[in-house]
Amino acid sequence: MISVFGSANMDLVAYVPEAPKRGETVTGHRFRTVPGGKGANQAIAAARAGAGVAFLGAVGDDGFGAEMRATMSEAGIDVRGLRQVPGPSGIAHIVVDDDGGNSIIVVPGANGTITGPSGEDLAAIAASRALLLQLELPMVAVVAAAQAAMVSGVPVFLTPAPVQPLPQELLDAVTTIVPNEHEAAAITGVTGPDAALEALLELVEEAVITLGSEGALYGSRSGERLRVPAVQVKAVDTTAAGDTFVGALAVARSEGMDMERALGFASTAAALSVQREGASTSMPSRRQIEDNLT
Ligand code: ADP
Repeated sequence: MISVFGSANMDLVAYVPEAPKRGETVTGHRFRTVPGGKGANQAIAAARAGAGVAFLGAVGDDGFGAEMRATMSEAGIDVRGLRQVPGPSGIAHIVVDDDGGNSIIVVPGANGTITGPSGEDLAAIAASRALLLQLELPMVAVVAAAQAAMVSGVPVFLTPAPVQPLPQELLDAVTTIVPNEHEAAAITGVTGPDAALEALLELVEEAVITLGSEGALYGSRSGERLRVPAVQVKAVDTTAAGDTFVGALAVARSEGMDMERALGFASTAAALSVQREGASTSMPSRRQIEDNLT
């Protein structure tokens, strides 16, 4: 089993010709709601990639919360650790313009009420083969979950997004950090993925920098370095490509695949996801990933 301790947001997406300026009202083409949040996305990606997954997090007592619970449950995720708290669920208010540019407001809602893993969460983490973390919950909670995993010898995969200062106690508990190129540059202050990789390895045991259509770069303190090309596909929507990648990577590693094969598995999953619209709706099944492995 893989545990994900993280955020669940409802994405409220409006498609407009041009984003409104202050004081302006524009008429949009289309609106949709899509369950998202980095935590929920990674949980769904891992479940579809073939793992048993427990989601640990919070939703509010509104309709969005009920819908997110149902979506995760239908994906086969164990949602006993998804608590309901009074007040609104987390939302991401997203405006997408005709050029494909977007602006996003995230209101944490229930996610922001989590101050740490509960007793049940700690038991789930200790019994897991991997713990997936992102930074959309309060930092104090993320640190506590990472430390609980470390104490139990459970590998911790951290997606350091949204970018913010990383406390030493978190870095000490992380096994594998998986930033994209921008996050890697922001964390290390170093430009260029090769140099950023070396700088990340000063902080954690192993790192994977995802490079969009350029693939990914891997390094470990033991000296291993790997470069994985992206699968050549026509991208329609790259939302949650990184979440699909890390979900699939954790599944592959938890099954004992070596890093090279695991990175190929993750790249294949992510490449399949970018060919479809949406976040949670675009993630490939185990069967689809295996059919497309090269
Ligand atoms: P994020 O979504 O976090 O910004 P990236 O854009 O780096 O992350 O994408 C994560 C992974 O998804 C990449 O390492 C790659 O494997 C895959 N990917 C992203 N964009 C494409 C693309 N256009 N074609 C093929 N694979 C892609």
